[in-house]
Amino acid sequence: MLLEYTPIIQTIHYKGYDISVLRLDLIHPEISGNKWFKLKYNLQQAKAENKDTILTFGGAYSNHIAATAFACKLAGMNSLGIIRGEDITEANQTLALAKKNGMTIIPISRDEYKLKHTEAYLKNLEIKYSNSYIIPEGGDNALGEKGCEEILTKETNRFKTLFCACGTQTTFNGIANSLDTKQKLVGINVLKFDATTNKKNAVILDKYHFGGYAKHTEALLNFKSWFECTYDIPLDYIYTAKLFYAVFDLIDKNEMEETDKILIIHSGGLQGNSGYEKRYNLKPNRQVNDPVG
Ligand SMILES: *Cc1c(COP(=O)(O)O)cnc(C)c1O
Repeated sequence: MLLEYTPIIQTIHYKGYDISVLRLDLIHPEISGNKWFKLKYNLQQAKAENKDTILTFGGAYSNHIAATAFACKLAGMNSLGIIRGEDITEANQTLALAKKNGMTIIPISRDEYKLKHTEAYLKNLEIKYSNSYIIPEGGDNALGEKGCEEILTKETNRFKTLFCACGTQTTFNGIANSLDTKQKLVGINVLKFDATTNKKNAVILDKYHFGGYAKHTEALLNFKSWFECTYDIPLDYIYTAKLFYAVFDLIDKNEMEETDKILIIHSGGLQGNSGYEKRYNLKPNRQVNDPVG
């Protein structure tokens, strides 16, 4: 439905290692990466329930908001985005584009936003927007996880050690469910809390958050620039820069075997870069020579 998924795998080299990259960022510039998989079955379910609107939640730079707006446009559905923070501006590119793609933006206070998981708040929304299908923040529900079970395919079976970025862990869980018996999944947590998982053959590393969600350090910025210049693969600041940094750092520290047959799942997120650069006054793709530093 909506978009075809043909896995694109690109191999790069670092210190004698072959590192393959599953380029989910190339699926679509707006419905990029893992967000497409999380939306797929949710949109189908919404249609099956005869809902004409998708209602969802996100921050002002959210990849999920951008993806939902565009996916709904393709599916011929309305979209409603409940956005954290009343201070959002028209200059925000993620929201401007979501609006252009037909999304109705509803900014709410940070305090109200905290209620978004409560039953009473959701009940109210269901009454107020009666023909809406509600998807939680980040597409984090069972159908989102089910969609992520389709990220791995027969083309990815030959890889043994797989890496993905973890926010809500929906993507990680979906991938973990679909691992081949010989495969192991390593999640890189971008949030500053200790993640747990009970999935088989899957672990989450907590030491690559760089200060927490959407935070960065000089070392991360240097790595991102160096990586993009060296391999000509763009990364986003929030998820994939931390993910790739982690893999290169593990190689630097000799914590990887050459027989590991590494596959990194590039989950996209590039739409958020210009907004992030504006917010922190960063220059895109600074030219530096020193990698992990
Ligand atoms: C949302 C997102 C993630 C995190 O996915 P979860 O399922 O929430 O863990 C990873 N990478 C990118 C680029 C994202 O936009």
